[in-house]
Amino acid sequence: MSSEGNLQAPTRHPLDWKNPEFYDEEKLNVELERVFDICHGCRRCVSLCGSFPTLFDLVDATDDGEVHGVNKADYAQVVDQCYLCDLCFMTKCPYVPPHEWNLDFPHLMLRAKAIGHKKGESNFRDNLLSSTDKIGRFAGIPVVTEVVNAVNHNSMARSVMESTLGVDKNAWLPDFASKTFKQIVTDSTPWEVKNGAKTPGKVAVYATCYINYNEPGIGQDLLQILNHNEIPYALVDKEACCGMPKLELGNLEEVEKLKNINIPQLAKLAKEGYAIVTPIPSCTLMFKQELPLMFPDEADVQLVKEAMWDPFEYLIARKKDGLLKTDFSQPLGKVSYHVPCHSRVQNIGKKTAETLQMIPGTEVNVVERCSGHSGTWGVKKEFHAMAMKIGKPVFKNMANNEPDYISSDCQLAGHHIEQGMSEAGLKSAQMEHPISLVAMAYGLKK
Ligand code: SF4
Ligand code: SF4
Repeated sequence: MSSEGNLQAPTRHPLDWKNPEFYDEEKLNVELERVFDICHGCRRCVSLCGSFPTLFDLVDATDDGEVHGVNKADYAQVVDQCYLCDLCFMTKCPYVPPHEWNLDFPHLMLRAKAIGHKKGESNFRDNLLSSTDKIGRFAGIPVVTEVVNAVNHNSMARSVMESTLGVDKNAWLPDFASKTFKQIVTDSTPWEVKNGAKTPGKVAVYATCYINYNEPGIGQDLLQILNHNEIPYALVDKEACCGMPKLELGNLEEVEKLKNINIPQLAKLAKEGYAIVTPIPSCTLMFKQELPLMFPDEADVQLVKEAMWDPFEYLIARKKDGLLKTDFSQPLGKVSYHVPCHSRVQNIGKKTAETLQMIPGTEVNVVERCSGHSGTWGVKKEFHAMAMKIGKPVFKNMANNEPDYISSDCQLAGHHIEQGMSEAGLKSAQMEHPISLVAMAYGLKK
């Protein structure tokens, strides 16, 4: 007899993506029907995203109201609405392993996406949007930067982009910086390395494509915070994209190629005793969770997993070691802080909120719900309206109590929230990344 729900902590099985059966479409459909049937009987996740309402609408439209009546070709509609936030697995589902029903909804969606990608279903737009480091390198050429940024803000050009590329003309797109993070970074002061009981005393920063090409100031603020706390830092020299955008597309071969560039460098830093800090939650999650599940037998991937830190996870552990300065000189006032899904599912607790709450004269309104942006998904023409709909409760809650700042660990989500608040006619506030807020509170920036 099966048990009703798990009482044990969820575990996640490795992704068996090198097994030819992983790409067997008939076997996939059998598994989709099994899982959809369990979800139909449960329906706990109906409010999380578009996948579940789409599934339940398909089931409810059948003659007998059962999953077996749903046309298999319509399963793709459910898969398309999933942007792999992992919330259903991590926060809702009682049937995840070790429960005998062994349900991992996001990884089943990933398998379906991988099969679709192998069948050539990813289009030019999808491949382009997921090539974040290639776009960054191209858009980082000075004259190109100006053109790309001008196109971003030109409504006629955006309409053309929408009709030719399928990038929604109303979706916020990031500007490119005139100089990359790697070009403006300053060398670390040679502070003495002070290891704590919980934390290594030196940090290697994996900058991420977004910080390197779009908002290098956030990376600079992180380095200033480390310097203020007398923590020596190094940069990951020749980093490639973490692979999350390719994973979301189901392009697992490309994920492996990127892994082969990043892991040897990161493993070397881990062996040298560095904490590796990554300022974008999706990239941190890639190294903490997805790559270790895709390559469970690679010792270096597991080593990097252990050495990888969210920035605020590191700062709070540093505080517990008695090695974090708390000489905050600037109050921040009222901060509405959004916890992105890829921070929540790291299972590290609300370390960013804890840090902001240490700052005197700072009141933090924590909003813990999906913003709907979800990487490249929310800018696609066919999904942007849904991304704004999913974010509505977040936009409203972020406006509570008239904040001085709005902030999210995921800067893309932050901009999406800013857009949503403005479109909803809600009083917005200055948007700053939490790392920048902490730098401001230390008096390191205005
Ligand atoms: S992983 Fe996120 S987007 Fe995908 S089905 Fe689960 S809750 Fe929805
Ligand atoms: S993923 Fe789990 S919790 Fe969510 S609807 Fe399906 S069975 Fe229920």
